[in-house]
Amino acid sequence: MPKTVGVAVSHAAFHFDKLYTYAVMPDQQDAVRLGSMVLVPFGRGSRPRMGVVLACDAEPESSKLKYLFDVAPASACLTPELLELVRFLKGRTFCTWYEAVKAVIPYGAQYKPALAADGVTPVLQKQLTRHTETLYRLAAPLPQKPKPTAKQLAAVALLSGGPRTQGDLEAHGISRAVAENLCAKGVLASEQVNKSLDLYAHIPQRTEQLDLTAEQQAAFDALAPHLETGQAHTALLYGVTGSGKTLVFLKLIERCLALGKKALVLVPEISLTPQMIRRLKERFGRRVAVQHSALNHTERLLQWQMIQDGGADIVVGTRSAIFSPLEGIGLMVIDEEQEHTYRSESAPRYSAHEVARWRAAKNGALLLLASATPSTESFYEAQAGRCQLVRLTQRYGGQPLPSVQIVDMRAELAAGNPREISLALEDAIRENLDAGKQTILLLNRRGYQTMAQCEDCREVLKCPKCSVPMVYHKNEGGRLLCHYCGTQIQPRPTVCPACGGKLQYRGFGTQKAEEELAALFPEAHILRMDQDTTSAKDAHEKMLAQFARHEYDIMVGTQMVAKGLDFEDVTLVGVLGIDSLLFAQGFRAYETVFSLVTQVVGRSGRASSPGRAIIQTTDPDNPVLNLAAAQDYDAFFAQEIEYRRLGLYPPFCGLCIVTFSGKKEGEVAKAAARFAQILAREAAQQPGIPLRVLGPTPGSILMINEIYRYKLTVKCRNDKTFRALLRQVLACYEEEKLPAKASAAVDMHSDGDI
Ligand code: ADP
Ligand code: ZN
Repeated sequence: MPKTVGVAVSHAAFHFDKLYTYAVMPDQQDAVRLGSMVLVPFGRGSRPRMGVVLACDAEPESSKLKYLFDVAPASACLTPELLELVRFLKGRTFCTWYEAVKAVIPYGAQYKPALAADGVTPVLQKQLTRHTETLYRLAAPLPQKPKPTAKQLAAVALLSGGPRTQGDLEAHGISRAVAENLCAKGVLASEQVNKSLDLYAHIPQRTEQLDLTAEQQAAFDALAPHLETGQAHTALLYGVTGSGKTLVFLKLIERCLALGKKALVLVPEISLTPQMIRRLKERFGRRVAVQHSALNHTERLLQWQMIQDGGADIVVGTRSAIFSPLEGIGLMVIDEEQEHTYRSESAPRYSAHEVARWRAAKNGALLLLASATPSTESFYEAQAGRCQLVRLTQRYGGQPLPSVQIVDMRAELAAGNPREISLALEDAIRENLDAGKQTILLLNRRGYQTMAQCEDCREVLKCPKCSVPMVYHKNEGGRLLCHYCGTQIQPRPTVCPACGGKLQYRGFGTQKAEEELAALFPEAHILRMDQDTTSAKDAHEKMLAQFARHEYDIMVGTQMVAKGLDFEDVTLVGVLGIDSLLFAQGFRAYETVFSLVTQVVGRSGRASSPGRAIIQTTDPDNPVLNLAAAQDYDAFFAQEIEYRRLGLYPPFCGLCIVTFSGKKEGEVAKAAARFAQILAREAAQQPGIPLRVLGPTPGSILMINEIYRYKLTVKCRNDKTFRALLRQVLACYEEEKLPAKASAAVDMHSDGDI
């Protein structure tokens, strides 16, 4: 029963982000504990702010302590492991305490400041209230006087079979008024319970035995013992596309549950791994909880409560699912571990890998990273023996990897084909159509034409708020759209706003691809999958189901068609456009292209018929493309690791990117330069710290949504000493009031391209 508490307060500036001491009223002392969510008076005006209790019986810093306004119920308290996670995030990333708190619990479980019914007293309010419902049960016999109504009799009859929710009663024609009236008489009693919700209940359960191939079994045998030791262990499952990595996960999960432990499966993005949830649900049914970004707040909260109440043995979800309050974890899987979605780009800027490693250590669990194209960092760790390497080298069913052809699009144009679909690809698609097989085409750009350029002054039409070209979308009457801030221009202009010259529309997006395909193959059914066609709820899953039923012959789309899909009749994959990625900045650019091409090629020929793939490019000799075409990860890795070593990039150093953003470019540039000076000054006092500072330089996209961006690149060793140094620099930066000119964000996981 603490009399004083140390509270981390929301909206704190970084160098004021410490624990503030508050006094606890005697009637609140029972409710307050470590991890409690509280409402506190803050600052001179004693404005209400959210906070979380991180210390009890804290030393008062003055004799006149303020009292807490309000305390949330114990059920909203952070569990000890979540509290430790908050401390971990605060120590590793450059976030504030409260940002860390908001990361580890879902929005729906959070509180906000509000006013009590009197209109003046500050109180806490739940972000979501509709996730509970009323449960009625019989408490006493129904008096025969006055004579009960038919509805009352019906209610009592129904409840004599056990408690029912209000929704149930209403479904039987018994209104809330009737039930409440019976409560008032003492016949019924009611309580608020969490709604339960069986997401994906429509997925049928499958019980047939899983028979692993010899190679899969060997992988399982190498990994399974680490579920039993109680010692933390990291392994990398490196298996070619279609080798059955998922089968190995399923078997490991089965073993893990049999040992009385729980399992956490991370997927990079729901649209990239739509089939994972289905496979887990088929196997493990209701004990699977789902935590992903496409759920609405209520669904997410209900699933989270189910985990917290111990109702889930398996959690599957995207990045933040790594914070699920699952206890007794035996296995954590990070599928497609190289994906950038595992790194958070807003505070706290963590990577799911570092959190997973920490939780594996806490729980003595097996951490399994998996991919056909592991990140260079992970594979390096495995080669260095710091992580176990397990390989799957063969496709299930013994099919060879697809044969791949590279088509030179400059030669194509020179030979008189003006279209974006090469003759070779056209022929291949036609053959596939005739054979009744399916085709997947990747084009990494949505919209119709990707830019408009003036024929006279050569100016490219840019978004008024962002330094990127506007993209022409042909649907809905035609409009220009900014893919960064959503600005629209309608109808689309035909003349240059700068000089009045004629605008020429160029570039090739998924809408135009769809149109070109329809013209070439009028008999084919074509499915376009991109952000524009899949924005409706469940649209994505429905489209995949239709494709699986063969309602379409050709699927053309962005990244979402490239990964994780498993359709047996797909025997041809075409890469229509990928060149823009070849010239992307950021030290992971080659890795990204290699992975994307290898993955999409891997969608072809996964079952009984062999597959092939065609890659169209204007850079046919590009070494990364050629290695991806050969699907030769080992050769790619050998090349990539040399590039990283020579250029000094991770895994050979830590890369710390500080981004500065603000409304006036001059001030942003100055603030960034000042930050660099402070860093140099502070580092000079600690000469032992290895550092290499580059910049500041303008971001590769200078302005987004009227905010200018600069960056500072710091090559470093990501350890405690370095992080302390950077914290010191950030504090000085704030003391000089520079955040008013440009806010500074530190990211230890960025690929350096902002
Ligand atoms: P990966 O994730 O490695 O690309 P998947 O796990 O998706 O591969 O497996 C590819 C396909 O092969 C899937 O359709 C899967 O059901 C099938 N498969 C793999 N291993 C087996 C097995 N042992 N028994 C039956 N089917 C399998
Ligand atoms: Zn814009």
